[in-house]
Amino acid sequence: MEYESVIGLEIHVELDTESKMFCNCSTRFGEEPNTQTCPVCLGLPGSLPVANEKAIEYVIKSGLAIGCDISLYSQFHRKNYFYPDMPKNYQISQYDLPLCINGHVDLDMDDYETRIGVTRIHLEEDTGKLIHVGGAGRIAGAEYSLVDFNRAGVPLMEIVSEPDIRTPEEAKVYAQKLRAILISLGVSDCSMEKGSMRVDANVSIRPKGSTEFGVKTELKNLNSFRSLQRALTYEIERQKKALEEGEVIVQETRHWDESKNRTSILRTKEYAHDYRYFPDPDLVPMQFDSSWIESLKAEIPELPDERKQRFIRRFGLPAHDANLLTATKAMGDFFEEAVSIYAGDPKAISNWILGDLSYYLNTENLEIDESAITPKHIVEMLKLIDNGTISGKIAKEIFPEMFETGKMPQAIVEERGMTQISGEDEIAKIIDTVLAENAAVVQEYREGKERAFGFLVGQAMRLTKGRANPQLVNKLLREKL
Ligand code: ADP
Ligand code: ZN
Ligand code: MG
Repeated sequence: MEYESVIGLEIHVELDTESKMFCNCSTRFGEEPNTQTCPVCLGLPGSLPVANEKAIEYVIKSGLAIGCDISLYSQFHRKNYFYPDMPKNYQISQYDLPLCINGHVDLDMDDYETRIGVTRIHLEEDTGKLIHVGGAGRIAGAEYSLVDFNRAGVPLMEIVSEPDIRTPEEAKVYAQKLRAILISLGVSDCSMEKGSMRVDANVSIRPKGSTEFGVKTELKNLNSFRSLQRALTYEIERQKKALEEGEVIVQETRHWDESKNRTSILRTKEYAHDYRYFPDPDLVPMQFDSSWIESLKAEIPELPDERKQRFIRRFGLPAHDANLLTATKAMGDFFEEAVSIYAGDPKAISNWILGDLSYYLNTENLEIDESAITPKHIVEMLKLIDNGTISGKIAKEIFPEMFETGKMPQAIVEERGMTQISGEDEIAKIIDTVLAENAAVVQEYREGKERAFGFLVGQAMRLTKGRANPQLVNKLLREKL
């Protein structure tokens, strides 16, 4: 039987506000544990929460950026459960009146396009952070656990997608696109590594062509886009196998183990009614003027889709290039900065970014703004190629050193003595040597074997270790022959 996978993502994003969601403690990351707390975010009796307006603004802007309807009336609810990372025995969240509903994100998958619906975006408070000591750092097997409440009460936005995603690749592109949008809006730094963006993936499978949904599992501990894609790929295979062996899929939450490359059961499913949601009586409902919403709309900057169109129009880039270059804000910024200091063809810059630079970034698992290479490196290298100092082949050769050390291309080329030989006299001498050493091949060429010419060019390049200007070699060789 052929199966199709159905995926929906729940993405948590910590908002980049100065202060927490319901108190004025700082949200700064990486401070001494438990130094950024107060009676409100420690849940002490008698303390009262006050909603952070900036956080509400950020959620509404996020909703506007992905075409959501904004609720003019909204409310906070208490989600009741007990866990030691939460100082109260409830989390302030939203239930049936979220700030935003019915949005969508369009994905350009290169050979097809698809639209992923967004069910809702709501606002809640983050929990504290548990550190399990002993065992493998997970709660199972730990000797004891420590809790840091610095993160407790940090504004957290949850973006819930419709089950419209069909492949692990689409899931990755969707999450990356949302990240690019939110970073452009300036509402979060969306760092998967620091945990300011956390993705949970729901996945089920069904016979291809069926319109009913299968039973889903929810995957946790996806710490990178790579693990999101790998975990989904694994889980889809696991579900297929289970069905083929006559088992039933159980609705449960599963933990992704990156090092073992598999998922394992964490807990069986809890339901909304388990949480006994009710309106938080300490927080007044929110009522917004549509004029305020309009003013937020006016503040939305250029978003990735618009930027992509501008790259096509303004720089004459193919859609494929523009799509990849705007996939992250950092990559688009890098490209634009390079173009602004280079008089040549923007496509040449795009080629180096999407070619060699992306290749080395991928192998090192780095973002473009984390590497030693800057737009200045790329542009200096292109200028060296343009003025004939080096060939494209030499540029490729020095690229790894530039990537590793951040040394400028001119300096590397000088140090390694790799500048291109473009003097006619020098090249003429080399060609004389080649002709003298390959009399038999020269004879073949004169008898009409055109392939012999390529061989002779190759010999000249070999003698100069690739440094001879190829156009000049071709020209002078023809003349001499
Ligand atoms: P829950 O009751 O588990 O909270 P929801 O209906 O709220 O489930 O959906 C949570 C997430 O799971 C959403 O992103 C949704 O798109 C996705 N989802 C729902 N049903 C399925 C399914 N059968 N297969 C895959 N994903 C699903
Ligand atoms: Zn506080
Ligand atoms: Mg739900």
